[in-house]
Amino acid sequence: MPQFDRALPDSLHVLHSLALDLHWSWNHASDELWRCINADVWDYTHNPVLVLQLTSDTRFTQLSDDGEFLALLKKLTKAREDYLENPAWYQRQYADAPLRCVAYFSMEFGICDALSLYAGGLGMLAGDYLKTASDLGLPLVAVGLLYQEGYFHQGLDHQGWQQETYLYNDPGSLPLQPLRASDGSWMTIKTSFLCREVRFRVWLAQVGRVTLYLLDSNDPRNQPSDRGITSKLYGGGSELRLVQEIALGICGWRLLEKLGLDIDVCHLNEGHAAFATLERIRNYCKKNHCDFWEGLWATRASNLFTTHTPVAAGFDRYPVELMRRYADDTGLAMDVTIEDIIALGRANPKDESEPFNMAWLAMRTCAWSNGVSALHGEVSRRIFQPLFPRWPEREVPVGHVTNGVHIPTWDSPGADQLWTDACGKNRWRDDPDAICRQSLEQTSDQQLWHLASEGRTRLVDYVRERLVYQWRRESTSSSQCDIQVDMPLDPNILTLGFARRFAEYKRPDLLLQDPDRLERLLCNPRHPVQLLVAGKAHPADNTGKTKLQHWHQFLQRESVRKHLVFIEDYDIELAQYLVQGVDVWINNPRRPWEASGTSGMKILVNGGLNLSSLDGWWAEAYQPALGWSLGDGQEHGPEADEADAQELYRRLEEEIIPCFYQRDHEDLPPQWLARMRSSMSELTPRFSSNRMLREYLEHYYLPAAQGHHARQSNSGALARELRQWHQRLTQHWHEVHVGEVQIHGDELQLSVHLGGLQPQDIKVQLVADPVTDANGNTLPAQILNLQLQHPLTSGTHAYRYTIAKPDNRPLHDFTARIIPAHAAAQIPAEAMMIHWQT
Ligand SMILES: *Cc1c(COP(=O)(O)O)cnc(C)c1O
Repeated sequence: MPQFDRALPDSLHVLHSLALDLHWSWNHASDELWRCINADVWDYTHNPVLVLQLTSDTRFTQLSDDGEFLALLKKLTKAREDYLENPAWYQRQYADAPLRCVAYFSMEFGICDALSLYAGGLGMLAGDYLKTASDLGLPLVAVGLLYQEGYFHQGLDHQGWQQETYLYNDPGSLPLQPLRASDGSWMTIKTSFLCREVRFRVWLAQVGRVTLYLLDSNDPRNQPSDRGITSKLYGGGSELRLVQEIALGICGWRLLEKLGLDIDVCHLNEGHAAFATLERIRNYCKKNHCDFWEGLWATRASNLFTTHTPVAAGFDRYPVELMRRYADDTGLAMDVTIEDIIALGRANPKDESEPFNMAWLAMRTCAWSNGVSALHGEVSRRIFQPLFPRWPEREVPVGHVTNGVHIPTWDSPGADQLWTDACGKNRWRDDPDAICRQSLEQTSDQQLWHLASEGRTRLVDYVRERLVYQWRRESTSSSQCDIQVDMPLDPNILTLGFARRFAEYKRPDLLLQDPDRLERLLCNPRHPVQLLVAGKAHPADNTGKTKLQHWHQFLQRESVRKHLVFIEDYDIELAQYLVQGVDVWINNPRRPWEASGTSGMKILVNGGLNLSSLDGWWAEAYQPALGWSLGDGQEHGPEADEADAQELYRRLEEEIIPCFYQRDHEDLPPQWLARMRSSMSELTPRFSSNRMLREYLEHYYLPAAQGHHARQSNSGALARELRQWHQRLTQHWHEVHVGEVQIHGDELQLSVHLGGLQPQDIKVQLVADPVTDANGNTLPAQILNLQLQHPLTSGTHAYRYTIAKPDNRPLHDFTARIIPAHAAAQIPAEAMMIHWQT
């Protein structure tokens, strides 16, 4: 380990492994240890590796003689051993499950600021996911890229225009270690791009029980331009993005094979990593001496694709020319041609004008897919509908698992204590259902209010510190080093938070629609309010940067400066203080663009309340007793911004501010506390990542692992059978006809013509769409399976199917259809032919 060349006294040697296990990023019991070694480094960097590197030998010698320190170290070492070795929830509940290991691929991972490999919500979710898998004991390894510069750091110039600074992340000072092969050499994965061989070095980040592998192209043996492949996250043009995605997917899967890991489920966190499914196929084919299509059938049932994008324009697409250029070198094409692969990335495989779309590829190589909230599931079925021609949108095979957040990462020390008192020590390490709804019944109003006040005070102190730091950078002469201004903010007044990426759809300046009204609202002397704003615009997004500048301009008003701050460089630490200290979290995206959103979930455990558009997770969480909504739950364009802003002001002025300032004889706000209590106890467990991970496990990982074993056992016999079945369907589908429905008394009869197919290859169904009757009652969609009538009429390929006449809806509501059927196949994900009665 290059970063640990320095020797530590024997009694302190274990600090190396504690520093390298990112468990410290959510296990705050160890904060005291790092602060004790070197408070200055720890408080500044929150990076134990730097604490070890920057501290003097003298200090370590002192500590090796310090009984109190050694006792603390021993306690933490023991706790870590227990954490790693004791059976966790998964080991206890799923001891016999067929699942051995999930491989989780993501372009971003937001674990902590010391290892900053994220740009926004996607990465934060991935970070929370790994921590949760570790806590619950779910067997999972993760694959990502190590960016030398990561995402940019933000500053504003004097005009309020965003400035981007890219810092070099010295891997030798990050909580990482090189992954060593058994002969001690540093493991690398090779691939070739065009005519050049490129090596990716492999790093290992330990996230509790979970291992995260990171690939990095900055190997001195690579050409300079190739060393830069992994320099930035979301930097560069479409070619660099393609190369990064090949690195993540192809090289990432190659690494797992090289390590000999027994992966049964491959989970793509967004389509960026979809090439992994191709490399997975290739490996299967090589081992089993079969062709690409059989390999696809053997692996697809254990691939899961999670989509996070609410609009088709958000998917990565590549010109086919670019795909063709990289085809040979990357081994994308295998024994099929690159044109076959390109066809997998098109909605209509025959449409030559379509570019190659990573999400379409993922959809075609994964038998399972899901959106990240109930609403986003619906939206995704609409987006992916073109891949399933003639199938009703409601049957497009995209389910949903609503996101959740890793509570130990986001709760404040005060909230941690309060929940421990109410529900015990292991509350976030177990089944969230075990946390009963009445969990906070014993907690008094005073305790709840104390939690809110304490969080607000910590937030105000923290933000003031950051502002001083920010102002120092902005000062134009050395005489301004001493900042002697009235500090803004007040720990006792209603505190609103608004922090998110400055993307157009999030409408980050909606609150500024009527600046005078916002000023009056903030500066009302009787019921003052303060607002904390943070967020970055993508470096290429000038619209976002302009919106940022609007806040800067508004801040030029002297009067609002005490009540409004813009904190630069939104990061995890700032997010933590914000979600632990705000009274109300505002989120006003344009529906349905916020696939889920997670920041509003982070405030739940800390007692904050949400004021949000009915979009993403809030569309399913909102109830009047738990928080506040915006909008009518319909989709609108920018023309609705004006009205939405009015509603936002009105909710604040007429409902939220009065509720906060209405106090009883003990100076407590009774209505507010009632909401706080309900929001905390109803929503915290529901939007925790424990619930999310359990759903992924039950709805996807377990059936996928089963599919994996079924298809690959017996040298892939089932995969071959499925492939032949599908070939039969493809060859004969045009011969299939649906006849007329005939009524015989209480029975319906239908004759179908199957050509070269057999009855066991297909299903005959009657389908009725959902309808709303005159009284406003909705009848759900209905699907009825018809029975094959015996004896068969021999030799004609014609078969008669029957069913009892439906008694709840008129016959003309129903249409007959034929679809593929096989007990082991996912329909229509894996076979999307369909014949409707004409
Ligand atoms: C949670 C979080 C996000 C994502 O928040 P959204 O609700 O999706 O906007 C982005 N950045 C940071 C630092 C976060 O903590």
